Amino acid sequence: MTATRKETLANVRRILVKVGSAVLTGEDGLDLTVIEQLVGDIATLKERGYQVVLVSSGAIASGKHRLGIEGKLKSIPQKQAAAAVGQGRLMRVYSNAFGKHGLFVGQVLLTMSDITDRKRFLNIRNTLFTLLEWGVITVINENDTVAVDEIKFGDNDHLAAMMANICEAHLVINLTSTDGLYDRNPSEGKKAKLIPLVTECTEEIETCATEEGTSVGTGGMKSKVLAAKKVTAFGIPYVIAPGRRLGVLQEIMDGKETGTLFLPMAEHLNSRKYWIAFTLRSRGRIVIDAGAKTAIVEEGKSLLPSGVTAVEGEFELGDPVTCVDGEGNQLAKGLVNYSSEEVRKIMGLKTGKIEQVLGRKDYDEVIHRDNLAVMVKAPAKEKPAN
Ligand code: GLU
Repeated sequence: MTATRKETLANVRRILVKVGSAVLTGEDGLDLTVIEQLVGDIATLKERGYQVVLVSSGAIASGKHRLGIEGKLKSIPQKQAAAAVGQGRLMRVYSNAFGKHGLFVGQVLLTMSDITDRKRFLNIRNTLFTLLEWGVITVINENDTVAVDEIKFGDNDHLAAMMANICEAHLVINLTSTDGLYDRNPSEGKKAKLIPLVTECTEEIETCATEEGTSVGTGGMKSKVLAAKKVTAFGIPYVIAPGRRLGVLQEIMDGKETGTLFLPMAEHLNSRKYWIAFTLRSRGRIVIDAGAKTAIVEEGKSLLPSGVTAVEGEFELGDPVTCVDGEGNQLAKGLVNYSSEEVRKIMGLKTGKIEQVLGRKDYDEVIHRDNLAVMVKAPAKEKPAN
């Protein structure tokens, strides 16, 4: 057991396990052997005192198989219809399998629009916490039958990353059809090495992952790494591990060097800022100057009108907007205190001028620091010479 793994996992109590279609399904639809194995592994975790929430794919793949459809499903309605058939089947299989261990399952199906609304976000949270309190295994999936592009999570890696925030998980384990993250695509035939530990999700790490998904899954390794980036930004460790391996969850919790462990970021976002940064869809962009960049990224300050140099898009008071630097690099996301029209009028001005220009001054800041989620790391300070 490595010291880093041991330390990172020492205080974990609540684990969010995400399992992909490529793990759960085989040529004959849902792979009952793998599912029984996974369920047994989760039941053992529960006996060991861990709480587990499960994000499971497999609805579309299972429905397609049940209906005897060969080849790829072509249209969105076809996928949605297959999910309608497969989701019920998936839950019956889970219910039977967990039932053998004396555990109940609860189903939660969501779309992105369910969690972009703060009130609904909090309601879902209350439900999940009650299910946890009752010892029920919650099985979460995208509500595929109603989700269309604008309200879609896109893939279950993203859904699981959002759920980690909602249920305040201490660890996310993403069970996949590979052994973890490799330094290059293993299917290309060249010698690829498994990366056991990622201390930071750098661009270099992102380029190790390819976009292509499996024939049944949606995300591919790229979406798993992007999800890891979000989850670790929230201060939660993330493991990508082989889902078909017997006892894989015990191995991870025993601190064995299984899969790839992504360490949490030391300075991380709180729940509300995580929601702002990763759940809300940005309505526009505010370009800021170097002084404002230092103020918000390095000093944790609010964004004032004087630091704004341009406004792109149309937005209203309270809307989420992205702050970028002069080169277009994304720095932060926040909820604005003024509309795009108003920010255009007051940009570059001192706070004292707001009233003169707009005829009123409701706020000093364009975005208050409490509503501003900084998404880049502050540059490391140079150590003074001894
Ligand atoms: N929600 C989809 C399903 O259950 C899977 C999405 C994904 O694989 O990421 O079939």
